[in-house]
Amino acid sequence: MEPLILANLVDGALCAPASGAYLDVYEPATGKVYARCPDSDARDVAAAVTAAGHAAPAWAALPAGERARHLHRLAAAVEAHLDELARQESRDTGKPVKLARSVDIPRAVANLRFFAEAITQWQGEAHVDARAINVTLRQPLGVVGCVSPWNLPLYLFTWKIAPALAAGNAVVAKPSEITPFTAFRLAELAVECGFPSGVLNIVHGLGPKVGQAIVEHPNVKAVSFTGSTRTGATIAAEAARTFKKVSLEMGGKNPAIVFADADLSDANLDVIVRSGFSNQGEICLCGSRLLVERSIYDGFKQRYLARVDALRVGDPDDEASDLGALVSKPHFDKVMMCIARARDEGGHVLTGGQAVRVAGRCADGWFVAPTVIEGLPQGCATNREEIFGPVVTLTPFDDVDAAVAIANDTDYGLAASVWTRDLARANAVAARIDFGIVWVNCWMLRDLRTPFGGVKHSGMGREGGVDALRFFTEAKNVCIAQ
Ligand code: NAD
Repeated sequence: MEPLILANLVDGALCAPASGAYLDVYEPATGKVYARCPDSDARDVAAAVTAAGHAAPAWAALPAGERARHLHRLAAAVEAHLDELARQESRDTGKPVKLARSVDIPRAVANLRFFAEAITQWQGEAHVDARAINVTLRQPLGVVGCVSPWNLPLYLFTWKIAPALAAGNAVVAKPSEITPFTAFRLAELAVECGFPSGVLNIVHGLGPKVGQAIVEHPNVKAVSFTGSTRTGATIAAEAARTFKKVSLEMGGKNPAIVFADADLSDANLDVIVRSGFSNQGEICLCGSRLLVERSIYDGFKQRYLARVDALRVGDPDDEASDLGALVSKPHFDKVMMCIARARDEGGHVLTGGQAVRVAGRCADGWFVAPTVIEGLPQGCATNREEIFGPVVTLTPFDDVDAAVAIANDTDYGLAASVWTRDLARANAVAARIDFGIVWVNCWMLRDLRTPFGGVKHSGMGREGGVDALRFFTEAKNVCIAQ
């Protein structure tokens, strides 16, 4: 079958890249090319920024309720195609279709709806005293850039564009070149549902070409980025040159801390397993370091491993599959290298540790068994660096101080989970660990109103709720003497 040809969205029209060149897009479950994505460059970005610049004033001038109406229509279009988009997301990423259907696409709909509603509820600020009334305006920035990664493609793409658009900006967005398909479908749906031309522009292609051109463009006033810490550092350096606002959501090396008094019901144990292996471990929030209080370590390990062994790795189309394929051959190779390195560092592989051969159409796919490793020295690369695959390390700890010290012993600081019945202890641990998000007796339980983001090398700034709306606007204080 001929590969599907994707297109950019510029000024309300689907179009080919200026270069006429395309990149191969692979289906990770089969290892085969199934689509071709525009290999765009600075010319396409320039055209998109020009279109966005023309569209921005009228979009910003619309009443918030009107912008909300457009976002709701886009959300309804995504929802109407939920099944189809879930299958496409699964084909593009290798994730189980049931996950894309239950998490990725519903969340994309929720993102669009949440910010459509949020912008109609957002309250201005006023500070009044006997001398003056200060009114703080929150004005849109104009043209903003959004750059997103491959692990939760439409989910994270909409998480950025929705608040940017709701706040009254025109957007130039770049999805990951590894998983461009659902952003392309979103572009088609935006055209079909009459989204105003030029307000949302989507330029596909490589990071160093398209992403960088967005960051460098003088008329782009802010960049919201989600991806690796290395790319985030490049973007921060470049953005500093032109004093752009940047929001950076980057990597993680997250601990799940299990105290001896935790309620380890089957349901909670399932959540702990999911926190390590959901989406093949390719979620920035995954708890890849499982710290367990020594007094329950052996018993916990036994029950945990039984559950991990029961996870089914298989064809993402199969409703029975719990894990699908890793997103690309280079990523598969990286994860396998990390497992080999863990062995070299003295780790003992308790389960997994190898590639999985899935018979039939997936024989050439990039599958890795869920892997659990113990016995690693604290401070080794395996325990400090992000792997972003189905690999969890198990480490015992003796008391609260030790748990906190181990948890904090990484350059990352995105998310942690703490499992205990003692809420006073949970609060004390939450206060002492250097992470932007702490879940107590749960994981990835999201309320879109809450600030989302990391500290240290995991992030700069916060997304979600009013934090996102604040990022995508500039405060202007007007002081009126009375
Ligand atoms: P990546 O940094 O390689 O790419 C992310 C995006 O940036 C892609 O669209 C890419 O094309 C673009 N890009 C690459 N180089 C660029 C440059 N020089 N200038 C501008 N844009 C550029 O990351 P990835 O491999 O796609 O995603 C995996 C990473 O994302 C992991 O580290 C993961 O932890 C992180 N992540 C973080 C969060 C979070 O919320 N903190 C969420 C999801 C993923």
